[in-house]
Amino acid sequence: MVAETFLPSRVYVRDVAARDGLQNEPVTLSTEAKVELLLALAKAGISRLEVTSFVQPKVVPQLADAERLLEALPPLSGVQLAVLVPNRKGLERALPLQERFHQVTVFLSASESHNQRNLGRRIDESLKEATAVIERGRASGLRAEGVISTSFGCPYEGYVPPQRVIELAEALASAGASEISLADTVGMANPLQVQRLFSAVADRLGEGVELTAHFHNTRGQGLANVLAALQVGVASFESSLGEVGGCPVVEGATGNIATEDLVQLLQELGITTGVDLSALLEAGRRLEGLLGRPLTGHTLRAGPIRWDQPALAASGRAE
Ligand code: ZN
Repeated sequence: MVAETFLPSRVYVRDVAARDGLQNEPVTLSTEAKVELLLALAKAGISRLEVTSFVQPKVVPQLADAERLLEALPPLSGVQLAVLVPNRKGLERALPLQERFHQVTVFLSASESHNQRNLGRRIDESLKEATAVIERGRASGLRAEGVISTSFGCPYEGYVPPQRVIELAEALASAGASEISLADTVGMANPLQVQRLFSAVADRLGEGVELTAHFHNTRGQGLANVLAALQVGVASFESSLGEVGGCPVVEGATGNIATEDLVQLLQELGITTGVDLSALLEAGRRLEGLLGRPLTGHTLRAGPIRWDQPALAASGRAE
């Protein structure tokens, strides 16, 4: 007999397909195609979108159109738009367009080797840079999110001491980040570890800082980790439509958890998301068309659960 545990009644879902997803796709989508993707996600009720990244275009050519994309995107009422900003230089590019987005997202790794390979510098140097971006972003009226990559494990170092994650979270929060995301960049986390780390960070930061779970489904553990996070009160998740995404510096690192699988789970648990699953699957099929390949999100493949019409559910994509 499984005990019914505490679950949040409302959860926020941020889709990161347009950034975390597309930066790892071999195909570079046109600005128009990206606009189409983002509009479809917003129409499905996704109220938080990570739109693009102000990394050097040479490093991530798939997102080289960051400025153009923000200019082309029509205003989306009720949708919070985030842009990834790796450093002060990126912020200089982003700020002239600040009327068109709401949040700067900074990131660094909890493990030295991953930070070195991903950002080309030491963690303490990244923290300095991230702090400067958060402070300047906040002073310009923007919200700030700090993402800690490899929070649960590093492909080069393996074990990551939780204490290091807790200290980085504290530093980012005291710089002014109102949201901290713990990222399982290459899918090494397990549910117990998720509960321990989120609880420890929440204890240290207290109320007032939103904690977000960013899981990759590299080893199929993503949704188990979502349930574990929900059980310790995490009410904000990042995921990508169709499970697109990965990590550019780690071989075999597959996508984020699929937004449609996350929403399906939350819906079955009776948790409010504001997302229309049918419209979300519609967006997924559009993205398949734009990328020219089938995507791997399970609910996109199998169709949603239909308690009222089991025959339709059995036949797959009919809905
Ligand atoms: Zn990620």
